[in-house]
Amino acid sequence: MADDPHFETRAIHVGQDADEATGSTIVPIYQTATFTQDAIGTNRGYEYSRISNPTRDALEAALASLEGGRFGLAYGSGMAAIHGVMQLLSAGDHVVVCDDLYGGSYRLFTKVMTGFGVRFSFVDATVLAEIESAIDSETKMLWIESPTNPMLRMIDITACAEIARRKGLTLVVDNTFASPYLQNPLELGAHVVAHSTTKYIGGHSDVIGGALVVDDEEIATRLRFTRNASGGVPGPWDAWLTLRGVRTLALRMRQHEVNAKQVAEFLRERPEVQRVHYPGFADHPGHELAKRQMRGFGGMVTVDLVGGEPAAKAFAEGTRYFSLGESLGGVESLIGYPWTMSHGAFAPEVKRSKGITEATVRLSVGIEHADDLCADLEQALGRAASAR
Ligand SMILES: *Cc1c(COP(=O)(O)O)cnc(C)c1O
Repeated sequence: MADDPHFETRAIHVGQDADEATGSTIVPIYQTATFTQDAIGTNRGYEYSRISNPTRDALEAALASLEGGRFGLAYGSGMAAIHGVMQLLSAGDHVVVCDDLYGGSYRLFTKVMTGFGVRFSFVDATVLAEIESAIDSETKMLWIESPTNPMLRMIDITACAEIARRKGLTLVVDNTFASPYLQNPLELGAHVVAHSTTKYIGGHSDVIGGALVVDDEEIATRLRFTRNASGGVPGPWDAWLTLRGVRTLALRMRQHEVNAKQVAEFLRERPEVQRVHYPGFADHPGHELAKRQMRGFGGMVTVDLVGGEPAAKAFAEGTRYFSLGESLGGVESLIGYPWTMSHGAFAPEVKRSKGITEATVRLSVGIEHADDLCADLEQALGRAASAR
């Protein structure tokens, strides 16, 4: 199908024609490891499910279309997808990475990939000059996330693409926080888009998955080869669940957005809250850039509480509808304490340099009724006030 139809239509139809064998309207779960061959050397397009599987193919076609790239690759987790990108590199190569980075990516880069001779420099990528000065003669890749986690800073993808083009680097954007509904890095000049489909794309916190989307055929061929060689594929059932999430991504993102805005505005007026980090506010440092490179401000809101650690912990532990937990992007609201949870692996001074303190709490605003969410936060703020 051509990419002319709108996002919502592509999410439901691309890769999802009725099944040829049976007419099944919904893409079947081809729960099989292998495919019976008609004769030696003759098959019907499938041989073995690590190489390819029809259910996974459907998911990959849909995701490629939503990101505006020609090639999609699904992986068994976001980290498997990110490791897939790392396999484009060789010993001696150098990567410049934004320092506001998903903790799992930081761990893979610094604790695993360095053992294979790949070097990494972490820079504040909101300052383009820092990126430029970190590039050396071995640099092959520029890796960014925008919006960043948990402070929701914006990195200029178009400007990074310009640096990458000038220096001959591969620009990779982890687009998990925005989702393809709000931001399409390939259109801004990135070469590879990475996703943890566990988050907004799957959307129901019931399946782990990852994906890469690229437009360059040579990169796609190399990624497919290394994925088959190393084996980080999702099973058909997980691919099917993720594809079911894809169909409602647009609807969910619109409601996440409406709810996050109401929650951010509610929290900004509260005396128990010192500061609300939300890119939809005109005084957020990335607001203008977010308006340029995104189609909305997303469903994440981060707050600093008055009263430091005891207040923040009482708040994070005191909600009823916001479940205390890792992850984000599900229909249900989640609340997290970055200091010891998502960013527990970073040194205190590193956290502080990013603006994360013991008073910081991160909210993934779900699609429950926003009035109920605000009422829940209000009672939890009462607990925060009495804890300080
Ligand atoms: C969760 C997450 C990942 C890792 O994905 P998994 O599916 O948990 O392996 C990578 N990047 C970002 C931004 C994430 O939020």
